Amino acid sequence: MNARHRAACVLGWPVAHSRSPLIHNYWLKRYGIAGEYRREAVLPEQFADFASSLAARGYVGANVTVPHKEAALKLSQPDERARAVGAANTLWLEAGALRSTNTDIEGFLDNLDACAPQWDRGVAKAVVLGAGGAARAVVYGLIGRGVAHITVVNRTHSRAENLRERFGKAVHPADWRDEAVFADAGVVVNATTLGMAGQPELALDVRTLPGHAVVADLVYVPLVTPFLRAARGRGLRTADGLGMLMYQAVRGFALWFGKEPEVTAELRTLLEADLGASADQEGGIT
Ligand code: NAP
Repeated sequence: MNARHRAACVLGWPVAHSRSPLIHNYWLKRYGIAGEYRREAVLPEQFADFASSLAARGYVGANVTVPHKEAALKLSQPDERARAVGAANTLWLEAGALRSTNTDIEGFLDNLDACAPQWDRGVAKAVVLGAGGAARAVVYGLIGRGVAHITVVNRTHSRAENLRERFGKAVHPADWRDEAVFADAGVVVNATTLGMAGQPELALDVRTLPGHAVVADLVYVPLVTPFLRAARGRGLRTADGLGMLMYQAVRGFALWFGKEPEVTAELRTLLEADLGASADQEGGIT
């Protein structure tokens, strides 16, 4: 690697289906930057060694996907966001130190801002389905935007309780079957894997949501989940998982390649074509 040619990568296991190379290589081409973004299939037992030798391997940074996000946090100097969420998805080198952050937070919020402008104006209540790493990023983001009451419903109730311990009294764990929690929700977010190709559908009747609710689904295979389709059918504003995927990539690119990239319709079309071509064969991972 020389000063003008920079390389970054995505570390995962498996990693073959990651769309990150498509996104970052699109931006490199668009901005005429001499650089490259690659996939690196890294086994869990190899991760510590790989992450701590990024520079020696010619990388200025990396995205981190399943199953390495918690390990990435432990092995790096995380910023406040990654520490709060308990997972890192973006690594970069700063004065010789391995730094990390979590860009799912801004990915979720920026996409919501783009799809449903002013969604946060006067929103008092939200419901988040799920309590995994993505749900933690969503809850952190919602709290940051001033949503005072966030109901977290999760199949495994104890994991929803963990989010209350982590984020405090804004979080209200509730039973998976308690439909009453949706009645006054301004935002409803699916942060589970339900609705993903090959997984069971999310069994939530959108008629229980108020007419002003904004619905977000983090799943992006399929592009339009049955939950999003039903919400749109009811005339609700929606934000999809592909939008979040594009927005979460922005900061990594800026950190590694020195340019704040734009999320464009052209990029979306490129990803949609790629997802459309392979949707029958896989589930979705970042
Ligand atoms: P995770 O940590 O493995 O969490 C999975 C969540 O789904 C848990 O809450 C789990 O509940 C729930 N779940 C799984 N199977 C279920 C079932 N059969 N019934 C009910 N609940 C079920 O995964 P994650 O990293 O948080 O990711 C969650 C989703 O977000 C995935 O679809 C991922 O692709 C998506 N995502 C999208 C983006 C994006 O940019 N669009 C970014 C990050 C993640 P339990 O706790 O009970 O197991």
